[in-house]
Amino acid sequence: MGNDPARRLYDRIGEFLFAQRLSPEPANFTFAYHLLSEPDGPLARAVYAMTDGGVRLTQRDIDSLGCEAKPVTGGAAAAERAEGLVAQTQMQVEGFEDMVHAMRAETEDFGRNLAASAEAITRSAGQSGDATRIEEVARLTATMLERVRSAESRLESATREASDLRKKLEEARDNARRDPLTNLPNRRAFEEAYAAQAASGERICLAVCDVDHFKSVNDRFGHAVGDRVLRAIGEALSLSCNGHLVARYGGEEFAVLFTGIGVEAAQVTLETARATVASKRYRLRESDAPLGEVTFSAGLVSVIAQDACQTSFQRADQLLYAAKEAGRNCIRVG
Ligand code: GH3
Ligand code: MG
Ligand code: MG
Repeated sequence: MGNDPARRLYDRIGEFLFAQRLSPEPANFTFAYHLLSEPDGPLARAVYAMTDGGVRLTQRDIDSLGCEAKPVTGGAAAAERAEGLVAQTQMQVEGFEDMVHAMRAETEDFGRNLAASAEAITRSAGQSGDATRIEEVARLTATMLERVRSAESRLESATREASDLRKKLEEARDNARRDPLTNLPNRRAFEEAYAAQAASGERICLAVCDVDHFKSVNDRFGHAVGDRVLRAIGEALSLSCNGHLVARYGGEEFAVLFTGIGVEAAQVTLETARATVASKRYRLRESDAPLGEVTFSAGLVSVIAQDACQTSFQRADQLLYAAKEAGRNCIRVG
């Protein structure tokens, strides 16, 4: 039994966790597994660098190294990893662009000098009469000049490619934060904006808006019509809440981040949005038949300093639930 490699690895993982006084939870277990099963891997090397001299790993070390140790468990982790790669590549491309610019400036100077020298040589050849040797030098110089020019044009196209790549990366970054159906910022963009505003100490309010009985729109008119209604509601919300961030949080839920105003002012704005949406007479594009009333309910909170997005969102969500209970097409404020 003791010679079974799987058993040995299992025992060593246990010994490692106890020696490092790490609790045997899945993240630590995964960490130890990667460390011990790939003793020459990048994680092991990073750990040996940290523990050189017998220093014990802390939970924080594990967390900081953990991204390499944990398997990709879902979309969020994959997206985070992709995001890291995009940022890294972008930095590389920017560095490359700088380098290419510097090189181009240098070769341009060199090319100018060579051209000037070639001209001077040709002129002096005419005067001195030592034509053959000077013609040879002039020919070599012309060849060099040609090479410099071709290097320059290759550098120019490399710069163009690098800058195209950078634009594509920027687009990819933007796409990762945008909802393709409504073209509004998505949940991720919303959470990032929340974090940035919260960190700046700005006054913020958060609203969650959920379309009422939306399932019945889909059921009666089909998913494509439902999609169009979602787009229309997104537009109406954006217009009414102009200057504040309106995001499609998911499904038929929109979130609004009000900045620089108190909850009373936010409520007035949101109330206008609610009334605008409720007063619209949606019609089927094909037959012009009315869709009936489309409304949303909302929960609105003033964000308490230091509260995480999730915490504020849950408070708003509870108020949204109360608004639904109260008969829908209304806002509850906390
Ligand atoms: P309530 O008033 O309680 O919110 O009722 P509801 O019908 O709006 O809520 P429910 O959660 O039962 O249904 C939400 C529906 O939204 C179900 C889902 O199919 C639909 N939905 C979510 N995302 C989309 C989308 O992108 N397009 C379309 N057409 N429908 C969507
Ligand atoms: Mg919903
Ligand atoms: Mg709904």
